[in-house]
Amino acid sequence: MIRFENVHKSFGHIEVLKGIDGEVEKGQVACLIGASGSGKSTLLRCVNGLEDYQQGRILVDDQLVDAHAASIHDIRTRVAMVFQRFNLFPHMTALENVMEGPLHVLGEPRAEVRERAEEHLTRVGLADRVNSYPSALSGGQQQRVAIARALAMRPDAILLDEPTSALDPEMVGEVLTVLRDLAEERMTMLVVTHEIQFAREVASSVFFLDKGLIAEHGSAEEVLTRPQNARTQDFLRRVT
Ligand code: ADP
Ligand code: MG
Repeated sequence: MIRFENVHKSFGHIEVLKGIDGEVEKGQVACLIGASGSGKSTLLRCVNGLEDYQQGRILVDDQLVDAHAASIHDIRTRVAMVFQRFNLFPHMTALENVMEGPLHVLGEPRAEVRERAEEHLTRVGLADRVNSYPSALSGGQQQRVAIARALAMRPDAILLDEPTSALDPEMVGEVLTVLRDLAEERMTMLVVTHEIQFAREVASSVFFLDKGLIAEHGSAEEVLTRPQNARTQDFLRRVT
């Protein structure tokens, strides 16, 4: 579904991604772990063209990701993004946030969009908060709205960049529960996360990114329980 081939990315003279290879298979969850500054967000942002890259290829379902080509709009509707800080529209209710993409990007009929938006909000446990503005919602609720908003685009895959990192501890569980349900329904997801226990439960594969390179890659069991690389071992010791 998503494939990285020798992806290099620099900001000015600083090379942040130094030749990334890997893939996320359809219907599977891949988790991306690594220290702050290792390039996790940059890699995710390259997949839907929020950043460009200078060398190598990223393919989404065999379509080349090129941030400067018109095709990037199509890729963005197929690969949804959920951010650490939710990024909801503050002047719109939960329902309006979820309706925005299908209505204005996909151009679907309002009545249908509304019905589906309500279904998505129900699915993330927010049936009773459809008319609330983001400022009236907790962090966990806002992130669930953001997930509903991503689902409303009926994406082929969802990218999630530390979806629980900005949340108070008591709200992490409700968001992870939604993600577990999605994983069970075989939504393809690439998740940057420090929630190692969650990664153990849902990830089919885990990538450990270290200073712009995939230092270790394998099943959740291999990377998280029996890491071979000293830097993976050190990282896991620090986050668990
Ligand atoms: P992570 O998500 O793993 O913490 P990032 O992908 O955010 O790492 O950042 C990787 C490196 O790229 C860091 O050194 C960061 O300072 C740098 N970086 C990220 N975005 C930019 C940018 N827009 N301009 C310049 N440098 C950036
Ligand atoms: Mg980041």
